[in-house]
Amino acid sequence: MKVDPGGQALNRSGLPTPRHAVPLAGQPAASGFADLHLHTVFSDGTYTPEQLAAQARRHGLRAVALTDHDAVEGCRPTALACRQDGVEFIPGTELTTEASGDELHLLGYFVDPDHPRLLEELARFQAVRQNRIREMVERLNRLGIPLQAEAVFALANCRSPGRPHIARALVQAGFCASLDEAFQRFLKRNRPAWVPKFKASASEAIELLHQAGGLAVLAHPGLTRSDVFIPELVEAGLDGLECYHVKHSAPATEYYVRTAIGLNLLVTGGSDCHGFSKGKPVMGTVKLPYAHVELLKARAAECRQAMAMPPATAWGL
Ligand code: AMP
Ligand code: FE
Ligand code: FE
Ligand code: ZN
Repeated sequence: MKVDPGGQALNRSGLPTPRHAVPLAGQPAASGFADLHLHTVFSDGTYTPEQLAAQARRHGLRAVALTDHDAVEGCRPTALACRQDGVEFIPGTELTTEASGDELHLLGYFVDPDHPRLLEELARFQAVRQNRIREMVERLNRLGIPLQAEAVFALANCRSPGRPHIARALVQAGFCASLDEAFQRFLKRNRPAWVPKFKASASEAIELLHQAGGLAVLAHPGLTRSDVFIPELVEAGLDGLECYHVKHSAPATEYYVRTAIGLNLLVTGGSDCHGFSKGKPVMGTVKLPYAHVELLKARAAECRQAMAMPPATAWGL
């Protein structure tokens, strides 16, 4: 987002952006709730698209977004499953990026899952993930743990594998008693099997998400203490902040909602549910008032129109 000399926010088409009446945390929702941060088997979650849709329906959610790590392959099947269960679906992804050496996660909403450049870049990120799995397994082998990379890939069964898949393989093969033990002993940053990962810069990732017709939102800012990066991300075109998150306290949520309003950013939120791969499923514990989804859709439509792109629904969902 750019700001004109008079201090008024300008959108990407150079027009002043209206200050919407944003509902505050804790206010009653006019019409339902959404969960805009969910993972499936297409990254490190355990839910299939059908299971995700069924759970969303069970929790009475009006809308969900799929945000698999560095992946969009799950969008189409999840959209179909959600349609069958009467839940509104928003295509998305969660990109692992960095700013000044710190890892930042960027959520992309309404990206076109067939966009050629997005798919090209995601394929690169996925190749980095696959190579990193091999390197981490080699480290485990050197530590005397005879795990095979192929076993991890077979278990992951997706293009965007991550450390939770290695953790699951370690538990399944009996080398660790729990996923947490696998992370604590081997996989956490600076533990013996951990390998750093190449990451795209956050500003490049914002540009990529925009090119693919999407909006860019900073994921769980309260987790990464990434407040210091917010001004430069806004300068790079950041559209929103994930204010509601399973690991944000109520005061943190309130703080980020106010920060978002102050910066004329969209407010999003979700449970970051990974099914059973991080303990127990947390879908239903974070409820974003649906009014925010309407604002998100309006902004996405406005941006796509400014870029002469068809509406986000045009890819047949
Ligand atoms: P990666 O993308 O390969 O770096 O793996 C990151 C994923 O590992 C994220 O989904 C994290 O939430 C997850 N993760 C980090 N620590 C743990 C843990 N102790 N137990 C389970 N999952 C974890
Ligand atoms: Fe994850
Ligand atoms: Fe994340
Ligand atoms: Zn996530």
